[in-house]
Amino acid sequence: MDPVGVAAAAPPEAGPGPAWQSKCPWGAPKPTSISCSLADVMSEQLAKELQLEEENAAFPEVVAVAEGPFITGENIDTSSDLMLAQMLQMEFDREYDAQLRREEKKFNGDSKVSISFENYRKVHPFDSDSSEDEVDWQDTRHDPYRADKPTTTPKKGFIGKGKDITTKHDEVVCGRKNTARMENFAPEFQVGDGIGMDLKLSNQVFNALKQHAYSEERRSARLHEKKEHSTAEKAVDPKTRLLLYKMVNAGMLETITGCISTGKESVVFHAYGGKSTNEDDKVIPPECAIKVFKTTLNEFKNRDKYIKDDYRFKDRFSKLNPRKIIRMWAEKEMHNLTRMQNAGIPCPQVVILKKHVLVMSFIGQDQVPAPKLKDVKLSSEDMKKAYYQILNMMQRLYKECSLVHADLSEYNMLWHDGKVWLIDVSQSVEPTHPHGLEFLFRDCRNVSQFFQKGGVTEALNERELFNAVSDLNIAADNEVDFQAEIEALEKVNEDHVQKHGKKVSAFPSDGDPPIYDE
Ligand code: ADP
Ligand code: MN
Repeated sequence: MDPVGVAAAAPPEAGPGPAWQSKCPWGAPKPTSISCSLADVMSEQLAKELQLEEENAAFPEVVAVAEGPFITGENIDTSSDLMLAQMLQMEFDREYDAQLRREEKKFNGDSKVSISFENYRKVHPFDSDSSEDEVDWQDTRHDPYRADKPTTTPKKGFIGKGKDITTKHDEVVCGRKNTARMENFAPEFQVGDGIGMDLKLSNQVFNALKQHAYSEERRSARLHEKKEHSTAEKAVDPKTRLLLYKMVNAGMLETITGCISTGKESVVFHAYGGKSTNEDDKVIPPECAIKVFKTTLNEFKNRDKYIKDDYRFKDRFSKLNPRKIIRMWAEKEMHNLTRMQNAGIPCPQVVILKKHVLVMSFIGQDQVPAPKLKDVKLSSEDMKKAYYQILNMMQRLYKECSLVHADLSEYNMLWHDGKVWLIDVSQSVEPTHPHGLEFLFRDCRNVSQFFQKGGVTEALNERELFNAVSDLNIAADNEVDFQAEIEALEKVNEDHVQKHGKKVSAFPSDGDPPIYDE
């Protein structure tokens, strides 16, 4: 068939666009040729693009590092390590401050006069010098808020004569002066036009307002600070850090060198493997990748679909809380990798699973991860080789592992040792999943588009590829009919399952029993 014609074919559902498009605060993204089914909203490529935009807006420099094609020797030693060091320092400072607060409380007890340890704090939310000018403001000679508009009192401290004498403590003068000083509060503090309406603020009211302005200023400084820290906090929370420390302490990992990737759902670190501590003496690879599934839940909401409808998880899903569901993602990736490993598909080898942290072998060398297919420039010879290898892997994945990758694209294939390695299989499902065949079709579309654009003339179009992988021999010669047939097949399967109450145990064909932690 004509590959060009297929590649140029319009997507079937060129509707108004998915929900995220209208919500996107950075404006409507440029139209892509990707169709707009729910399945596509979950595609990594799309997620990556959105995330990149989002992160570029929030953290310009950090993203440049995290999203670079791959980490090179130079930035490993600086950016990732710097981030880790900062994280550790920050955590240390926080703990120090917490301890200081406890000591301060203990020291002061119920005493009316208290001593502040503020100056010894490591993390300063806002450098305020408020304590001094609480009294200072009354002294006109050193008035830090000197305003132009109200009449000033001369040095002698009074104006006028006899009973018309007005001292600097005169209520009206002071009131106006206070109003003018209010203008000097932090710009974000809305004071209104007090001068214009000749507002006179008593000292007491002014003091209260000033106090409030200060605390507002501090609060906003704290909020801002949080925002900046969240880049690092995106990496790992204290509980995860503890898990990682434990692995290092146990000698299983030698050192954790730095962060390879921060995505929406996971953060991946590089580590040097340590000595085996397993009873079964599983050899720990010299270099490991640690995939930490994020325990912040909102990103995972969209992905419920993959797990909820997966028969292997059906009985368990409804009873689980979100934290456990995230552990299940990690567990799922482990099981899927194990199946692939058993079928001889090049993929990371599972080392251990602890809660939401999955340790596997590192694809790459000397801390440099293998490049994604999207980032590597292959010769036409290698490109062709890669294509046939992927075709073969997709077939084996389907037939031998009974899996559909469900996020297969040039983003999740690494080029290493002259071949393609598959990664990122936490969302992979069995072909009998209610949307399994749709996911497979999308995978096929990504793969055939990538290789057709890459100049592999032998590359099958997405429909041919789908049939070659699944042996389903769908005859439709256009995308719309093809997809309709796929959905019909899914329906038949679903009905069959409903009728026969197919009960499938969690992981029927995995060689290894799951590694559950304490
Ligand atoms: P995500 O769900 O965030 O896409 P991935 O499993 O795809 O998670 O990992 C993100 C990135 O981390 C990958 O694109 C790859 O660059 C790197 N990576 C993940 N696992 C490994 C590994 N075993 N070896 C080397 N690099 C890896
Ligand atoms: Mn990925």
